[in-house]
Amino acid sequence: MGRDEHPSRRTFELLSDEIRLRIITALGDASGEDGYASLAFTDLRERTGVEDSGKFTYHLKQLLGEFVEETKTGYSLTLAGIRAYQAVIAHQSEGSVTVEPFDVPGECRTCGGDRRAWYEEGRGHVGCADCGEIQFRYPVDARHVDPADPESLLDAMHERALRDYGSMLRGICPYCGGTAVSDLRFEADHWEGTGMIDDDALVHVVCEACSWFVYANLAAALRIEEPVQAFFAARGVDIWSEYLWTDRIDWAVDSVDADPIRVRGHFAYDGDHLSIVVDGDARIVEARTVESAES
Ligand SMILES: [Zn+2]
Ligand SMILES: [Zn+2]
Repeated sequence: MGRDEHPSRRTFELLSDEIRLRIITALGDASGEDGYASLAFTDLRERTGVEDSGKFTYHLKQLLGEFVEETKTGYSLTLAGIRAYQAVIAHQSEGSVTVEPFDVPGECRTCGGDRRAWYEEGRGHVGCADCGEIQFRYPVDARHVDPADPESLLDAMHERALRDYGSMLRGICPYCGGTAVSDLRFEADHWEGTGMIDDDALVHVVCEACSWFVYANLAAALRIEEPVQAFFAARGVDIWSEYLWTDRIDWAVDSVDADPIRVRGHFAYDGDHLSIVVDGDARIVEARTVESAES
């Protein structure tokens, strides 16, 4: 395949026209609870706002078979068309909201300062008011953040990151559908210059197709695993509702072996321990509950 024939080049050529984008947006906007809309030629032309029928027909034909398909009753979006529509509406809400720093429970692990959360440039943050260190940061759609209710930011950040971690750690990029691969990182290179905290071992997951990546500490990444959920559920703790940056989930790394890579650590609750061994792909290879000797 020659350079000029790359499929993405054709995608962007097709979408680079205002009328074609309006056709996709009109079909998406007309859709709703009953599914994706099918619009008759004239209806679609009127919603697109193009008077010239010949011009409209030309652009509609360009989209046919790729982003738009003919149906019994008119025209509707293909799967690629739905994806294009999703990209358009996701972009519309970016950058329109900010939430000034507000206090959240917990203290800075580095300096003991007060913990704050805030929202700027499309990302939610949890960090220190004193030393400026950032403990958690993740993109959140502005539509899920209500500046009048700052706590909404915490829920939105937690839910979005939990969904993404779960999908990425199970090998599927939630954004492009590509294959995601996990490994463990021990070096602080990534964090230098970002103000993010360093950690004993971080799970790095990257999409091979679109390069979307997440860095998660092990305490956050491991909570999608069955033994961890079972350990906390048996002790009356709903680990899904605990924010990813919480101090209430007690996790510590005990040792790290280099060859083969094995990270040994444990969750603790009320004197009981869940000892875990993780391999270099961030998979649990051993999980063992050690109950408190007192009981
Ligand atoms: Zn601090
Ligand atoms: Zn991807």
